[in-house]
Amino acid sequence: MKNFKRYLVTSALPYANGPIHIGHLAGVYIPSDIYTRYLRLKGVDVISVCGSDEHGVPITLKARKEGVSPKEIVDRYHELNKKAFENFGIAFDIYSRTSNKIHYETASDFFLRLYNKGEFIEKTSNQYYDEEAGCFLADRYITGTCPHCSNENAYGDQCEKCGTSLSPTDLINPKSTVSGSKPVQKETLHWYLPLDKYEPWLRKWILEDHKEWKTNVYGQCKSWLDQGLQPRAVSRDLDWGVPVPVKNAEGKVLYVWFDAPIGYISATRELTEDWERYWKDPETRMIHFIGKDNIVFHCIIFPAMLNADGSFILPDNVPANEFLNLESDKISTSRNWAVWLHEYLDDFPGKQDVLRYALCANAPETKDNDFTWKDFQARNNNELVAILGNFVNRALVLTNNYYNGKVPVRGETNKYDKNVLAEIGKLKESVESNIESFRFREALKEAMNLARLGNKYLADTEPWKIAKTDPERVKTIMNIALQITASLSIICEPFLPFSMKKLRAWINYNEFKWSDAGNTDLLPAGHSTSNTGLLFEKIEDEAIERQIEKLMLTKKTNEAATAPAIPEKSPVSYDDFSRMDLRTATILEAEKVPKTTKLLKLKVDCGIDTRTIVSGIAEFFDPPSLIGRQILIIANLEPRKIKGIESKGMILTAEDKDGNLILISPSGKAGNGSIVK
Ligand SMILES: [Zn+2]
Repeated sequence: MKNFKRYLVTSALPYANGPIHIGHLAGVYIPSDIYTRYLRLKGVDVISVCGSDEHGVPITLKARKEGVSPKEIVDRYHELNKKAFENFGIAFDIYSRTSNKIHYETASDFFLRLYNKGEFIEKTSNQYYDEEAGCFLADRYITGTCPHCSNENAYGDQCEKCGTSLSPTDLINPKSTVSGSKPVQKETLHWYLPLDKYEPWLRKWILEDHKEWKTNVYGQCKSWLDQGLQPRAVSRDLDWGVPVPVKNAEGKVLYVWFDAPIGYISATRELTEDWERYWKDPETRMIHFIGKDNIVFHCIIFPAMLNADGSFILPDNVPANEFLNLESDKISTSRNWAVWLHEYLDDFPGKQDVLRYALCANAPETKDNDFTWKDFQARNNNELVAILGNFVNRALVLTNNYYNGKVPVRGETNKYDKNVLAEIGKLKESVESNIESFRFREALKEAMNLARLGNKYLADTEPWKIAKTDPERVKTIMNIALQITASLSIICEPFLPFSMKKLRAWINYNEFKWSDAGNTDLLPAGHSTSNTGLLFEKIEDEAIERQIEKLMLTKKTNEAATAPAIPEKSPVSYDDFSRMDLRTATILEAEKVPKTTKLLKLKVDCGIDTRTIVSGIAEFFDPPSLIGRQILIIANLEPRKIKGIESKGMILTAEDKDGNLILISPSGKAGNGSIVK
């Protein structure tokens, strides 16, 4: 591999229309953070940039739904997500946002440079227009039936059911999501990046020059290229975004997928005046960390944009991950099927590293993977507590007991000792080569193997059994155990930064770099360590059951929300309807019918008389809360005896999908006995 002078690490800009969940963390931000922390430990010149993606239709749609401005939406989630990343130790050098002035300038300039070089095709086409709302319907402003899988709720840019990428004109029975009306076609002018022109160059650059890319990334690129590339519009008719900076472009903004990756450049500009060194010097290695849904944008469209400009470097690798599922179901913001970072920290305070560990150990690096709370618990209890925490604890507690916390002198070493000492360096090298090939799961496994090595060493040599009889031998054993501990505190740092910081405070070891790991004399004889607490705590079943219950509740809510409405009953004549005496009434008295759970005895004033009605609503209403409520009744229902009480008429209620009863009341004050018709 080419020797690079510096690194530029980018992480996919999360969309500022919802909070960050474990899928984001596992797919993009934990790998990028491990990688960046590793490079920093190596003393490499590296910057890590990220920020909120704040344009695009999902944001304007959410704003419209909540009746607030798009700015309010992006401000809310930018702050929330920035804080969540900080809390999880995702150490970006900058977390910027695409609504910043510097981004507007950077994106406009980028467009203009390509425009002035004649890199765009200007084309008028017919696009869907909502006549009622007076706007063009881009992307998610339009829904309809997917031509591939017949999903009736496919979006204008994608069908979420079958994953096909669509254009609005592909949809069958298109419908505006703004007004619900049927859209018409209207002429509009847009700018297109002729991706077909870059196809031969992309084929060579990816398929020949980057065979080392992960197979899932390489395969997706190949399939896009084999399908043949088409010109792609880089503008939209919308009022939220970076305005297209040319004449006759009123009401047009840059397509969010044109402006978002430029956000990496803006963020770097905001971070440092020296930004061009990171973006234009071929000795910089640029790595894009993304999820698989962004492969086409980072491997094809953005490189084509950079190539069209001509002054920028290209990504050297794009280690995209696949998706993480949650308890065997696709993570979904709209269905609330997720573990949100801010909620996790409320439920498991101080346990950032446990989640970082569980997500990395189970990362969807080569295929979709499943997060389960049981696996999370097992990773904590059987690995972090039982292996890493246990080893460190034994090494430090014994050192404290035998030597008052001072590192003992290492005497003569035997063959087994020498092998163990040599193994530290080998494991360090293995972690290193795995991180550099973006195999973070394997890297973490090898880092944990160092703790396993330590545990096995103590179990085999049993210093506690020979403490009295062979004190010199015990000094050597404990010295070696402490050198393993010191190397662990470096090697595990990129994965478990919070716990390793704690550990290094205990072993009083603050000056270190990556190359120190594997050194067998990190802690000199006489160096002080302190006895401690526990590095990790067991997670009990109750805590896990609470999380599972929370998800089950979400599932139930979702099922109720999507349950089909009860079909319409067969028609009745107007005459039949008009024979029913529906009228307003006020509840005067309410009490439970003794020895029943469901029945209430109500006295109501219905205008013509005051009468008794027995109603099966006792499970839903507290009798005193009903007194004085105006309701609707059917007055001429044949009287009948219920539990010995004569009931004259019936109270009208609505039953929701969960089986809850809701009283029907007039929306304004009506005299008792007003006829309902
Ligand atoms: Zn479909």
